[in-house]
Amino acid sequence: MRFDIATLFPEMCNAVLNESILGRAKNRGFVEFYCHNIRDFSDDKHKRVDDIPYGGGMGMVMQCKPIYSCWQYVCNQLKEKPHTIYMSPKGKVLTQQRAVELSQLDNIFILCGHYEGIDQRVLDVIIDEEISIGDYVLTGGELPALVLADTITRLCDGVLASDECFKDESHFNGLLEYPQYTRPEVWQDISVPSVLLSGHHKNIADWRMQESLKVTKERRPDMYNMYTKGKE
Ligand code: SAM
Repeated sequence: MRFDIATLFPEMCNAVLNESILGRAKNRGFVEFYCHNIRDFSDDKHKRVDDIPYGGGMGMVMQCKPIYSCWQYVCNQLKEKPHTIYMSPKGKVLTQQRAVELSQLDNIFILCGHYEGIDQRVLDVIIDEEISIGDYVLTGGELPALVLADTITRLCDGVLASDECFKDESHFNGLLEYPQYTRPEVWQDISVPSVLLSGHHKNIADWRMQESLKVTKERRPDMYNMYTKGKE
């Protein structure tokens, strides 16, 4: 899987992409990350990439040309059009299900906006889908792009020790995860649930499923209702 991220802050993205599981996934060749500075594609002698909005109003709007040139540069490198995503608070809110689908692709181009956003014309020409990370507004698309790249990368083959690592987690099967415990067995007079020490795999699996249902019902009745409806 190859990610190309178009941003005004490539160093901000690289700082995250080079760390921890993402950095290891890259070093082991499971994913490639390329962060492109949109300013490098500006024809302006001051490398300007934004201008005032037509119709008036606050803030600045990112211009079409540098973004389009950056995208074309990547298309030429790949010799095909990557699946192109604009991180936007107006997009469809990201879900685990969508991340699983996106993890099947070979190439993803992620466009990060800034200021008041991006001239609609270039979005209409290059964007396949808009994705939001939640119903709130951030200053730029970098954090959302990193959230998206992270959630997709950990689903790619080989990145985690086994598929069980994510199949067992919250949201994968429509439930939230059961509680986790590690050593010591007793901490501040609180013991680990005894079933987890029993070595009885079926009982442990049953307990985890019950806990998963319980926490989902308490915290996310919407998910619980959807899950139980699907089991009827
Ligand atoms: N004026 C825009 C609006 O009201 O929809 C918001 C622009 S925001 C300040 C600047 C950039 O941050 C956006 O172009 C987008 O790339 C990114 N952004 C902000 N909130 C986001 C969110 N919830 N999900 C994804 N991207 C977001």
